[in-house]
Amino acid sequence: MTTHAIDEQASGHRFRGQAIRTLLILGASGDLTGRLLLPGLARLVRHGKAEDLALVGAGSDAWTAEDWQGRLATSFAAATPDSGTADDGGALARICAASTYHQVDVTADGALAGLIAGLEPPVAIYFALPPAVSEKASAKLGPGDLPEGSRLVLEKPFGTDLESASRLNSILARLVPEDHIHRVDHFLGKATVLNILGLRFANRFLEPVWNSLHIDSVDIVFDEELTLENRARYYDGAGALKDMIQSHLLQVMALLAMNAPSTLHERDLRDHVGTVLRASSVHPDFRESTRRARYTAGNIGGREVPNYVDETGVDPSRGTETLAEIVVSINNERWAGVPFRLRSGKALGRTRKEAVITFKPVNHLPDGFTGVDSPTRLRIGFGPDTLQLDIDVNGPGDVFCLDRATLQAELNASELLPYGEVLDGVLSGDPTLSVRGDTAEDCWRIVEPVLAAWKADEVPMDEYAAGSDGPPNW
Ligand code: NDP
Repeated sequence: MTTHAIDEQASGHRFRGQAIRTLLILGASGDLTGRLLLPGLARLVRHGKAEDLALVGAGSDAWTAEDWQGRLATSFAAATPDSGTADDGGALARICAASTYHQVDVTADGALAGLIAGLEPPVAIYFALPPAVSEKASAKLGPGDLPEGSRLVLEKPFGTDLESASRLNSILARLVPEDHIHRVDHFLGKATVLNILGLRFANRFLEPVWNSLHIDSVDIVFDEELTLENRARYYDGAGALKDMIQSHLLQVMALLAMNAPSTLHERDLRDHVGTVLRASSVHPDFRESTRRARYTAGNIGGREVPNYVDETGVDPSRGTETLAEIVVSINNERWAGVPFRLRSGKALGRTRKEAVITFKPVNHLPDGFTGVDSPTRLRIGFGPDTLQLDIDVNGPGDVFCLDRATLQAELNASELLPYGEVLDGVLSGDPTLSVRGDTAEDCWRIVEPVLAAWKADEVPMDEYAAGSDGPPNW
């Protein structure tokens, strides 16, 4: 039997591997760990999962176990204010009290391997480290350093280009099988993003019109009012295209565009996601198919925002964009000719996070109808989580005078935070919500020509005032 077959236990069609015994978080003092990972873990435990987990923190700080446990207690309490009195059976308090901390330079020869050797297997190793440190640390490991069933969890960005992503994939492939590698895209842990699958494949009326015959265009938008939030060091080296579009929005696009998988098993789902991304590209006339812009000084909700280039930690010579848009073509029978516009930006006047599917007009509107005839639009909101259908129906009075109506539903949010979903997959051995290695490389292949064209200044850098809707000509 292969390792895969040994690990896999049927749970409906969902994949469930061997449960993880020890979670080792590398980067215990980091922002991701405190703000997202630990609160996600707390939610998970409060929902009756991972209650017997052994949690181990590691980092370069000279912390005592008590320092680390103090951090755990604060993050757990903030995420689950009622956990002390409610029915987690004291699980969080137990995990916290038993948790150990190890000061270690994970890039030093043998250091990480030595730490792992002392842990109870199977172990999940969460690289909550700067990307370059994650690569160095994993390169120091050999297959013999990881006990059977170990899982490796890598954060975004997965590499900085196709070459580095491919190199990282090769390093990881020496260590564990592909389905034991979790490349985190926490967007895939958002309930609304996963709801795309139920919406599309459990409702008969949608699938027959979900193609280029009926759909005119698809917009996937993630606009934020937020600016740099003290993360200039990371963001200025990335920009909107790498930060949001290369990873998260391409994944959302794949879920919107993929064919129906026959099961929700990770192999079926991820095969279908991979097929869409392999067929995707940005037209090489980049002045037509891409746009980029950077914010200038402005005001967002009463808050004065300086020019992006004057923000602390920004190096203007990098030419980093804070708003990006690319038009992706999916070159297959279903989607030929349908533009998928992916856009994301910071410091905008309005937070807008949604996918908008715009349908073509009817072939013939009977003569005699008057009024609005804007296209039918389906909007899937990613926060607030809503589903909205904009259609034309008769307005008040004259039934042949059309008016716009909106059918709206609130979508159920997951009770786990996105990082709770991510950790659930890691700890239960289900890689469904993780990005497969070939797909991670394909996402770089899609955007790399755009990045090169922007670097060569083939596409002008537009400007927009912070707090506006974007550049005036967009
Ligand atoms: P931070 O810089 O806040 O934390 C990095 C951590 O790594 C620190 O605890 C640091 O310890 C530790 N570290 C660095 N070098 C070593 C080493 N050689 N040995 C041991 N520990 C080391 O980064 P973030 O938490 O923000 O990010 C971590 C990862 O998560 C990155 O890949 C990032 O892209 C990703 N990510 C972060 C998000 C966020 O909101 N923060 C969101 C999504 C992804 P020390 O400070 O003591 O050196």
